[in-house]
Amino acid sequence: METFLNKNFKYCPKCKAELDLKSNFASCSQCDFLYYQNPAPCTVLLFHKEGKVLLAKRAIEPMKGYWDVPGGFIDIGETAEKSALREAKEETNLDAKIIKYLGSYPDIYGDTLLPSLIFIYHVEAVNNDYTMMKAQDDVSELVWFDLNDLPQEFAFANVIPAIEMLKISLKNQK
Ligand SMILES: [Zn+2]
Repeated sequence: METFLNKNFKYCPKCKAELDLKSNFASCSQCDFLYYQNPAPCTVLLFHKEGKVLLAKRAIEPMKGYWDVPGGFIDIGETAEKSALREAKEETNLDAKIIKYLGSYPDIYGDTLLPSLIFIYHVEAVNNDYTMMKAQDDVSELVWFDLNDLPQEFAFANVIPAIEMLKISLKNQK
């Protein structure tokens, strides 16, 4: 099976000897180089309003043009919560607040094969004010979709389970 490691790693970056590739790490037979492939942490943001969820069309590869939810990779030194609110601002221009952490989901970042771990947040705009909403950064379009009438296909595997987590959480709130 093709993985991020065997797709991208062949030679040791320190001594240029051939690497020994395992499913989750690469080691060098000639020196002490060892690289563990952990998933890259990401946040996704589920804005919910009146039975609708905000979907974002991807403006960049991988999966350009496919429906997704706002979100992105967590930066070094950043908490998941801070990352979630930064990504909300970058991609939707909204000042958001976290309503609830819903759970996590392991995924793959499209054909880059980079393993990711998605932290899923139910969020809403501060003061429920969506007047400043604007698709920007990695997103070309933002559209409210009825939770029961979603697109057939999404950019990544995490979107449907994330929306299911939101639905369950909303049901339990009632
Ligand atoms: Zn080496």
